[in-house]
Amino acid sequence: MISDHPIIVANWKMNTSLADAIILASSIRKALEDMQHVEVVLCPEFVWLYPVKEELSKFPLNNLKIGAQNISQFDNGSYTGEISAQMIKNLVQFVILGHSERVDNFDEDETSTNKKIKLALDYGIHPIVCVGERKKSETSSSYVISKLKRILKSVSREEYQNIIIAYEPTWAIGTDEEADSDYVDEIAKNIKKSLSEDLRFLYGGSVDDNNVSKYLIHRNIDGLLVGRASLKSSEFIEICSLANGGE
Ligand code: PEP
Repeated sequence: MISDHPIIVANWKMNTSLADAIILASSIRKALEDMQHVEVVLCPEFVWLYPVKEELSKFPLNNLKIGAQNISQFDNGSYTGEISAQMIKNLVQFVILGHSERVDNFDEDETSTNKKIKLALDYGIHPIVCVGERKKSETSSSYVISKLKRILKSVSREEYQNIIIAYEPTWAIGTDEEADSDYVDEIAKNIKKSLSEDLRFLYGGSVDDNNVSKYLIHRNIDGLLVGRASLKSSEFIEICSLANGGE
């Protein structure tokens, strides 16, 4: 079950050492002891999933979860170097899928993202499905919705309540050029209207502690996916605190 509170997802990408991951996870866990109105998902590198889970399970919190950054499109077998949903199903509750960096650097396409979404759901892992346009000039709800429909092809409507959509325009990722919040709210409203009101909707792209509130005041935006700012513990904790309802 995905929480009704604002959801803040931290994508650490390939940036932390084991020590960094443990220090970040434990400082965020400590800060979250005083925040009951936000759900946080930490997405460490594959190799740190187990140690981060061990660290967090010393003092578990209901609103602090773990996610992976990818899974294989295959269930099991001779796929050298791959990591399957089945292997991590006891370590994570979420998985980021279809991130633009997977598309750009590893040739991931809509068909493989679709296979990964179905495998994640089969193993009870909530997919965080990334979608967005590459160029600012392509920005439109219909572009994003048709892309999403292809990525979610033959995923049953009942499963939508287990899926999070992360609208991440590629031009806003890692650039300091965030998308206009009224426009993001409009995209969220149109996605929910056209696919399902059950879908939770996140925005991602240059989110920091200065702009978090302007997204979260919108009723259709259910949370944020944070890249760079999730690696700085004090800034990320401030983002969580603002999402929790702090001033
Ligand atoms: C991301 O890569 O998903 C992301 C949102 O990154 P950043 O916050 O650094 O733009």
